[in-house]
Amino acid sequence: MLVMKFGGSSVESSSAIERVAGIVRTRAKQPIVVVVSAIGKTTNRLLDIAHEAVAGNRQGALVKLDDLRAHHFDIADHFGATDLIDGPFAELAELVRGLAVLGELTPRSLDAIAAYGERLSSVIVAKAMNAVHADARDYIVTDERHTQAAPLYAQTYARLKHLPPTPITVMGGFIGSTEAGVTSTLGRGGSDFTASIVGAGLHATEIQIWTDVDGMLTADPRVFPGGHRVKSISFAEAAELAYFGAKVLHPSTVLPAMDGGIPVLILNSRRPEVAGTRIVKDSVPCRNAVKSIACKTNITLVNITSTRMLMAHGFLRRIFEIFDRFETPVDMLATSEVSVSLTIDTSAHVPDIVKELESFAEVTVEAGQTIVCLVGENIRHTPGVASRVFAALEPINVRMISQGASLLNLSVVVAAADLPKAVESLHAEFFRELDPEVFES
Ligand code: ASP
Repeated sequence: MLVMKFGGSSVESSSAIERVAGIVRTRAKQPIVVVVSAIGKTTNRLLDIAHEAVAGNRQGALVKLDDLRAHHFDIADHFGATDLIDGPFAELAELVRGLAVLGELTPRSLDAIAAYGERLSSVIVAKAMNAVHADARDYIVTDERHTQAAPLYAQTYARLKHLPPTPITVMGGFIGSTEAGVTSTLGRGGSDFTASIVGAGLHATEIQIWTDVDGMLTADPRVFPGGHRVKSISFAEAAELAYFGAKVLHPSTVLPAMDGGIPVLILNSRRPEVAGTRIVKDSVPCRNAVKSIACKTNITLVNITSTRMLMAHGFLRRIFEIFDRFETPVDMLATSEVSVSLTIDTSAHVPDIVKELESFAEVTVEAGQTIVCLVGENIRHTPGVASRVFAALEPINVRMISQGASLLNLSVVVAAADLPKAVESLHAEFFRELDPEVFES
């Protein structure tokens, strides 16, 4: 059993859907469950329509709905599936009119609207593949936290056992229903989560997440284009990379798969011949110290110094209490007896935070910083990594360093202007030779 998930851009047109159907056919030696996202940007468009309707612009909302309908009909027509989406679009128009009358948008009605994206895409894709359609709402059971619902695993896994035993089954991602049968959604980007839940529930041999990138790379492609593909990576490393800006996959979505010991593959639907990146539960033996270099831009560095705090306790508590009050998460941290440097990636409350900190400390703020993060399980037991980092960064002013907390990353803060050079030098240092078991150049 294989689970294959295709995102919105992989099903954005009839030719994209044909390409997907072709990919699925080549893997059909075993039973497959295909999980699809809404077509293109449909979810955004549906939410926009809902907001427009409750804001009182009924006509505007209906015009936008007509556009969305035309787009879906174009695609459905290609596969002889228009009769399958007539009904849902009629219901949607009713719903939009109802929202305009009510003038109120509850999380539950947001879910009702948003769910149409995957309801529509899944019936079209099922028809295009000549496959059986399964309504995800009959299988994915969730709690009642609409727009952010959590799956109820025991019920969901029990229901998945009754999925039709067909060679290819297509279901929508992202959507489910509560125990009472009310439509719910798993949160934005939730289709990966659906794939992971279905794979775990059915004990799949593998879960394939088809995207529009070749997988995870040794460096952030937006900053350094010369990276190599990482063939396999541990879940802990992948999660660390995701946090530091690699937008390929949200780590929490692959948890059910990892708990079930099922590998998750990232693949490119535009280049299906590329073997992608395999995410596995345990660490992957590797001769390189580092697996990948991630970057997080738009970081603000806050330096806080107070000599009054020498030998006094409670300094850190006072600082963090302020960041907490302004709901501002702190990322990296370095401390000495009388000073603390920390980074934040939301600067909305910086003026308020600084004002409060200045009641007991001197504060400087440096915007426009970046975090460069080396990720790899080997960092913890390879001597000399730090000296190689500093040698590579020789001409660059390093503002802050951190290693330790997760044991699998070493992070430095540099000014945004230094970022390209820093990543290029680090990449040259740590990927001069590649372990062929782990990387594909
Ligand atoms: N269509 C949903 C969204 O745009 C879920 C997904 O694509 O994963 O958030």
